[in-house]
Amino acid sequence: MSAASAGGVGGDSQLARDQRFMRIALDEARAAERLDEVPIGAVVVIGDRVIAAAHNLTRTHTDPTNHAELLALSRAARTLGVARLVDAEVFTTVEPCFMCAGALLHARVKRVVWAVRDPKFGGCASLGHVLSDERANHQSEIHEGVCADEARELLQSFFRKKRGSPEGS
Ligand SMILES: [Zn+2]
Repeated sequence: MSAASAGGVGGDSQLARDQRFMRIALDEARAAERLDEVPIGAVVVIGDRVIAAAHNLTRTHTDPTNHAELLALSRAARTLGVARLVDAEVFTTVEPCFMCAGALLHARVKRVVWAVRDPKFGGCASLGHVLSDERANHQSEIHEGVCADEARELLQSFFRKKRGSPEGS
């Protein structure tokens, strides 16, 4: 998780740019938390434009597929009228699961950035490497650790409240 900048575009370092979009994903995660959903948010970006933003809605919609990344991808595809988002970057507050990583692959997303790993469900680094498997017909560039502290704190406070122990453990 190097903080090294890839040169910077228009005076904005790569890290600063990643943080700017991850903060929008974090705002989405907070919107999920207000609905008593696991606080995960995602945005789809092309160039400097946010095409779609979404948060986890599995409980609200009683639908296990309503993850932030899937919802954001669907919205972006509908907005642009294309099923493949080859120029898109996806910023998500948690490492995508296998389901979402599969959808990111189908959409041919160029780059995926996440804040924290998911040791129980993560399909991109923790339990598998769906986005970087060279046997697949597409690989996405991946980057992790952007705004990790904020994303982790959101998740930890959510699950602490769920357990009903304000002191945590
Ligand atoms: Zn997912």
